[in-house]
Amino acid sequence: MIPIPVLNYHCVSDYPAPWIAEYTVTPDDFEQHLDLILDSGRTVVPVSRLADASAGRRALPRNPLVITFDDGFADFADIAAPGLADRRLPCTFYAATGSLEGRRRRETVFPPHSMVSWSQLPELEEQGVEIGSHSHTHRDLDLADPRIAADEVIRSRELLEDALGHEIRSFAYPYGHSTSRLRRVVARCGYDSACAVRNRLSRVGDNIFALARLPLLAATTIEEVSAWLDGRGARIASARPDTLGIRADRLYRRVLRMPVLPENDLADPLPPW
Ligand SMILES: [Zn+2]
Repeated sequence: MIPIPVLNYHCVSDYPAPWIAEYTVTPDDFEQHLDLILDSGRTVVPVSRLADASAGRRALPRNPLVITFDDGFADFADIAAPGLADRRLPCTFYAATGSLEGRRRRETVFPPHSMVSWSQLPELEEQGVEIGSHSHTHRDLDLADPRIAADEVIRSRELLEDALGHEIRSFAYPYGHSTSRLRRVVARCGYDSACAVRNRLSRVGDNIFALARLPLLAATTIEEVSAWLDGRGARIASARPDTLGIRADRLYRRVLRMPVLPENDLADPLPPW
């Protein structure tokens, strides 16, 4: 069983907005992470390479590692992508299409924030970035009406495919939350992989529609990152993504805290994370 770290970044900034600060790493720390990755002996691959391996289309390199970014913040194009390209490291970038700049009105639960623009997406692909979908509005799809969830999964894929002129293969669940029904929807809509979070090392044989990822937080230490690159410091994902803890958390959010947004009411943002 090969432990596969699937790193999950959001923001790379020295000056994050308060609502995203917990999920932000500094540019200096990010540079250190990239240098650790280069020294680790791991081969960085995009998420779709895991799907290719899962389907038997192409074997994985001996010591794989995956780097992912969620949401679509502008600092990805300004800071993270150049740092990755300088080192010839690929990554997978999951964009919430309703928040991207430059073409459509905002349709998002995010507070205002500088985001990547639609016109930057082809340039990012040329730098080795795989583009995936992170839904349209970033609402919590595991609690949403199934028709709304399906629309988010389909619409975001179609928008990205129209913009880029090719198939979009991978999806990342907003907040990392999924259910078995939502995973089936994602598979039926044509994606061949999807990322959860799960705070675990992934592995060959991980659920390809609920891949375990390790979130990089402001509080994450260099020592933790180093351990993950060694395949240590976190448990290895089980085959069943819906642990008792995840089901309890969903029940908590459903019953006590987080009402499902009415379809046309995006004025009041959800709690930021
Ligand atoms: Zn997100």
